[in-house]
Amino acid sequence: MIILKNLLFISFILVTFFACGKPKEQEEKFVWQTEEFADLKIIRYQIPGFEDLTVKQKELVYYLYEAALSGREIIYDQNYKHNLFVKRTLENILATYTGEKSGQDWENFTVYLKRIWFSNGIHHHYGNEKFDPGFSYEYFEKLVNNSDQNAFPLEEGKTVADLLVKIKPIIFDPNVDRLRVNQDPNADLLKTSAMNYYEGVTQKEAEEFYGKMADPNDKTPISYGLNSKLVKENGTIYEKIWKVGGMYTQALEKTVYWLEKAIDVAENEIQKNVLELLVKYLKSGDLKDWDEYNIAWVNDTQSTIDAVLGFIENYGDPLSYKSSFESIISIKDMEATKRIAAIGDMAQWFEDNSPIMDEHKKDNVTGISAKVITVVVEAGDASPSTPIGINLPNANWIRKDHGSKSVNLGNIVRAYAEADGGGLIDEFYFTNESKQRLKEHGPLGGDLHTDMHEVIGHASGKINDGVPTPGETLKNYASAIEETRADLVAVYYLLDPKLIEIGVMPSLEVGKAEYDRNIVNGLMIQLARVKLGDDLTQAHMKNRQLVAKWAYEMGKDENVIEKIVENGNSYFVIRDYDKLRNIFGQQLREIQRITSEGDFEKAKELIETYGVKIDRDLHKEVLDRYSKLNTKPYGGFINPKLIPVKEGDKIIDVKIEYPDNFTEQMINYSQEYSLLPTYN
Ligand code: ZN
Repeated sequence: MIILKNLLFISFILVTFFACGKPKEQEEKFVWQTEEFADLKIIRYQIPGFEDLTVKQKELVYYLYEAALSGREIIYDQNYKHNLFVKRTLENILATYTGEKSGQDWENFTVYLKRIWFSNGIHHHYGNEKFDPGFSYEYFEKLVNNSDQNAFPLEEGKTVADLLVKIKPIIFDPNVDRLRVNQDPNADLLKTSAMNYYEGVTQKEAEEFYGKMADPNDKTPISYGLNSKLVKENGTIYEKIWKVGGMYTQALEKTVYWLEKAIDVAENEIQKNVLELLVKYLKSGDLKDWDEYNIAWVNDTQSTIDAVLGFIENYGDPLSYKSSFESIISIKDMEATKRIAAIGDMAQWFEDNSPIMDEHKKDNVTGISAKVITVVVEAGDASPSTPIGINLPNANWIRKDHGSKSVNLGNIVRAYAEADGGGLIDEFYFTNESKQRLKEHGPLGGDLHTDMHEVIGHASGKINDGVPTPGETLKNYASAIEETRADLVAVYYLLDPKLIEIGVMPSLEVGKAEYDRNIVNGLMIQLARVKLGDDLTQAHMKNRQLVAKWAYEMGKDENVIEKIVENGNSYFVIRDYDKLRNIFGQQLREIQRITSEGDFEKAKELIETYGVKIDRDLHKEVLDRYSKLNTKPYGGFINPKLIPVKEGDKIIDVKIEYPDNFTEQMINYSQEYSLLPTYN
């Protein structure tokens, strides 16, 4: 529920004018964006501050880096049970095909493989739909027959001919496993979703299985089902736990191996304990150990180096029990952390002055800790497509009793901004005033929005006594409602003079710029990411359209947001910022009520009314206008490479390389970190 996937299209907005701050020396020649294909662009990021670490800290970072990458293939298998099979088959063709490696078919083949690497599987990372390969089965057969026959991933006793039979519907039949995650409430979500978190069980069976486990009186419930695949075999339903000695053991053993090395060079006792608890959990698979680890992790606010590693986010499970493997290894960005701390310090003030009902306010907003981090490497579900902000842990009671850590991925945000060069603002915003304002204040507005969404947004509000978690009450609407709630806290306060008073915002112009962006992005620009005819399926996108469209409707009588059509182009123009702020406040109050009371019907109504359906004509218009701008809607990243410098067995330094070829990195990763069996 917590991650901000590309939250505010930093890439859309910060375009060419990310002029502020950081020194530019040494960066003249750094190429931020290396290539584009399909709807994707590939970006690089730097690790400023790495050289300032001690050798011991660098060694620690290096071990965590290896721990992260060791688990990278797990997400392929989680996303779809045939993903590793397809990936390895295609990689063998890429490496060993002896025929002509040129022409449109070959080009389409390589793009298809790159899209699979980007999405960690054959379904779109954002839209969930299966890719159209863009070449025929006949061509594919030719590729297979002219590649190294001994290097294909064959099942015991099977031939390459069997492989072709098996793979044909997987790649070429659009109706087989069409969606990775289906969210249509009228269908059996498990039967109609291709993800690999369940096998042989119906939605009803899975819900009963976990429903029976949950004790409504348990104030500290474990995250039921978080780290396992639920299967039905011979009439028995049971969990295959992801742990050392269990499912995915081949990768997790290696991760643990590197974590144990990291423990030896931990920065301090607290961090050492945190890493030990993580290892304990990965070995036991016991979710009580996971909670214990998370509590320790939340309390470690002092260490410079940090690791998010494990089964974290549940977006990939239509029932929101199962979490995907991801890892983000980082170092703290001291300077930017100050801005976020200023907001965190005022958390109680924000809570007290919030427009939500008094009974939904927290008396003590505990443990809000926020910082800006510099990412060193990302793996699993966090790569190549990455969040730009995270707020963990996800267990509600831990958040309530122990607080949470909120993190903004500073160097990733910067790389997005540097990589982009489009004229989106000029295209989609109407008045010169708003264009100018966005160019001047957009970057800070975006940062503040992210900070507040994470630091005070997710942390705010409480659930009524006796009401189960939003995951249980709001079900498939829980994620979108939670993101809406966090966003509304942020936008509500973006026009508050308090932000000027505490020194994080020079004037309300910053807030106005962010208001313009929320409306225009929510109603129009973000549609560029969606295929014409499709609905919105992703929680953050639903939330953005819900907020903007609902606000437009609510302010219609008073012309708060005006729709203007000029030369066939549509624009949404905010005519009264104060009234819009008031509307955001009313929305927040209602969304918080829905969350606190667990009002499923109202959650459903709001999201289905405003957050799912797309105005077809407007969508087409956005796609047309966007395509003229020649920029891709999704970005993903090539990781830096860490290289230990050794004297004998001893690491005496760690060097960074910045690879610039996505394909090479993916091939290298496949060579070094292919730890899982093809068939699980
Ligand atoms: Zn969020």
